[in-house]
Amino acid sequence: MSKDFQMKISIPTDNDGYVLLRCPNCGIYFKATPSDIEDDGILELFCPSCGLAGENYITEDVLELEMAMVQNRAMDMIHEELKKMERQFRNGPVKFEAGKRPKHEPENPIRSGIEALQIVTFPCCKRTAKIKPILKMTGCYCPFCGVKNYEVE
Ligand SMILES: [Zn+2]
Ligand SMILES: [Zn+2]
Repeated sequence: MSKDFQMKISIPTDNDGYVLLRCPNCGIYFKATPSDIEDDGILELFCPSCGLAGENYITEDVLELEMAMVQNRAMDMIHEELKKMERQFRNGPVKFEAGKRPKHEPENPIRSGIEALQIVTFPCCKRTAKIKPILKMTGCYCPFCGVKNYEVE
């Protein structure tokens, strides 16, 4: 194997292009875009809920959870294709059955909480993140500068 060979693990983003993050201090989930996270101007990230800076917002269980979600979507797509083939072969000499819908990897119970995250814009930095709706009401810390915002949209 050549020395140049590198395993590149890309962190899956959701449909809006956000990466799932988990606060190492309080454990809440939130999301931010890779361009904001990797911005040179951003030295550290702050948790929108507890306001503490932390390292390792992307943990193994975050990756596992996201991978499970990606995998489930992929399995559903394959199943749809098989279903189409099943219909195509229906009247032919070859019988083809797609079988049952694939069983999903467990994603819950945090998944539903993650899907409820809402996109907000932090006026202090003009950057966006996805946070729990409740934090919009109680006020939340900007993940990029750590300032508490009482009004985010
Ligand atoms: Zn926190
Ligand atoms: Zn800010």
